[in-house]
Amino acid sequence: MKVDLKSLQMRTLESEEFHLSTQGRDSLLSDIGGRFLEPVDVDLIIENTGNMFIGRGQVSTTIALTCGRCLEEFEFSMITDLTLTASESSGYGENEELIVLDDNQAEIMPRIEQEIFSLIPLNPLCSEECKGLCPLCGVNRNLTICSCGKNDYDPRWEKLKQLK
Ligand SMILES: [Zn+2]
Ligand SMILES: [Zn+2]
Repeated sequence: MKVDLKSLQMRTLESEEFHLSTQGRDSLLSDIGGRFLEPVDVDLIIENTGNMFIGRGQVSTTIALTCGRCLEEFEFSMITDLTLTASESSGYGENEELIVLDDNQAEIMPRIEQEIFSLIPLNPLCSEECKGLCPLCGVNRNLTICSCGKNDYDPRWEKLKQLK
């Protein structure tokens, strides 16, 4: 996802709006079993300060994640603020966040992916109230009511009885 700053390059102390949209890389989410359901949308206002470009805006997308309790896939929508800096050269200072322009183009995807990744919960839940799977019969307790809990049967008590 590249931002073309060629025309803004000529206009010091001015700003330009950018609206970009691209399909996310599913390989970014494959380790956690997720995938993109909607394009990654980026809205940015980029200012030419004279010696660098400062962009402010928002990133939004929707991904599929697997619930840690019921193991069902669910939609996870995210929207987050984004600030980025870009410049013609990396300069003398060390700044890992700085995007170095290539032929007036700023490749912003690595920064966008960083933001997206930082928003993914470590233990995703389809809902705070998710009842999860029954530890005895394995049914999804959001969908089915099993009778396991009803007779107060707990295999751990059986184990304890056997120990006596
Ligand atoms: Zn769930
Ligand atoms: Zn059950």
